Amino acid sequence: MNISTKLALCFFAVVLLLQLILMFYLHRNIIHTQIDEEFSKLLAYGANHRDVLIDNYSKSTIHHIILMENNNDREVCIINKEGKIISSSYEDNPKLNRYIPLVIRKHSEIDTILVSDYKNSPYIVSVHPYQNGVHEGYVLMFQSTQSINQMINNLTKHFGIAGATSVLIILVIYGILSKILTRPLIHMKKATEKLSKGDFEVTLPYKSNDELGELSVSIQMLAKDLERLKKERNEFLASVSHELSTPLTYLIGYAKVAMRTDLNDREREHYLSIISEEAIRMKNLVKNLLDLAKIDENNFTVSKEYFWAQPFLHKIINLVEPSYRQKNLKLTLLNQSNFQIYADSLRLQQIVLNLLDNAMKYSKENTEIHLEVYEQHNRTVLKVSDEGIGIPPEDIEFIFDRLYRVEKSRSRTYGGSGIGLSVVKKLVEAHGGTVEVKSKVGKGSTFKVII
Ligand code: ADP
Repeated sequence: MNISTKLALCFFAVVLLLQLILMFYLHRNIIHTQIDEEFSKLLAYGANHRDVLIDNYSKSTIHHIILMENNNDREVCIINKEGKIISSSYEDNPKLNRYIPLVIRKHSEIDTILVSDYKNSPYIVSVHPYQNGVHEGYVLMFQSTQSINQMINNLTKHFGIAGATSVLIILVIYGILSKILTRPLIHMKKATEKLSKGDFEVTLPYKSNDELGELSVSIQMLAKDLERLKKERNEFLASVSHELSTPLTYLIGYAKVAMRTDLNDREREHYLSIISEEAIRMKNLVKNLLDLAKIDENNFTVSKEYFWAQPFLHKIINLVEPSYRQKNLKLTLLNQSNFQIYADSLRLQQIVLNLLDNAMKYSKENTEIHLEVYEQHNRTVLKVSDEGIGIPPEDIEFIFDRLYRVEKSRSRTYGGSGIGLSVVKKLVEAHGGTVEVKSKVGKGSTFKVII
């Protein structure tokens, strides 16, 4: 059963119950009011006849009274104190006779309703005692219950029709309302099904300010995020395969050349060194990719410890020195004091190596690169400054994005893949630190890491 049917049925059941209680109460009340009115009317007519009889007890008065009640569904009967019928509008006297002993037995001194059972008795009966000198007795009024029961039946019938119609209308209204209410939910369900099938083109027009509206906005955001992720993944895979295929082509080509028998040792050495360089580049790329994958999955840990700055920095300098020398770059370490750094030394080394690698890649020959490290407010500041090509201001905010490269072709000639800085940023953030950059095109860049 779908949600709109459930909702409609729930509301319907509650309203039906309320309506039944209300109708039952109203039905009973109206009937009682009507019956009370019939009793009052009968008592009033009876009292009227009795008063006339007391004022002027004569044959003609009695005849008059009988005449008055002749042509309606009321009957009148005048009896004396002993129960003998003096006159009656009712021709079928034996039927009346069964009420007379009741009147005598009750011996009522005031006007009263003698028989009130309108459901089972053919009449409701009122008694009105009179006394005029020697004439003493009772005026009995009879009201046929047939008309009362007919009135009740009519009323019940109308209640039935009104009830059934309102139930029908309520059912239709709830059906429509619940459909309107659940339509956005059904749209959202369809949208999520589309998402799960990989179709991210979902439009949810529902814009209300309630929880359904918020859910709709969240689903659209989810769709956009998924689409972006899918796009990023595709771009990532495309550039990874491109990045890997370029050095592989070189490797295959140079390997074939190096295998030639007509080469002398120097030439072979030259080609082998190119092969080795490309292989190293591939290795670095794969390492960076793996790092990034691990960081993305959040399954890498940062285990912080205290270690001394000086040996840590010298080790890094030793690692990068050969490649710097090869490019005729001067690397200067600006670190006056030895102090203790609190970080994951391997991860921090990765951060600094990435920054130094970029500084080397994007610097011209015979320029200088500074690695400055100092302690400030109990935190470690690492600065890598170069006099290289710099980064255009419009690119600065994106360079830490995964696979973002300033001028893709330029970056490739420098051997970049757009991964290094995103790894740096994630590692710095995992340390609870910050990384910022200042750069001027043609003048150089400074990357500042605080952890
Ligand atoms: P890549 O592997 O391409 O260097 P990164 O994520 O390390 O990727 O850097 C992103 C981009 O930022 C690079 O394409 C490069 O253009 C620019 N960049 C990074 N460091 C420097 C720098 N020291 N000098 C100039 N540009 C830089």
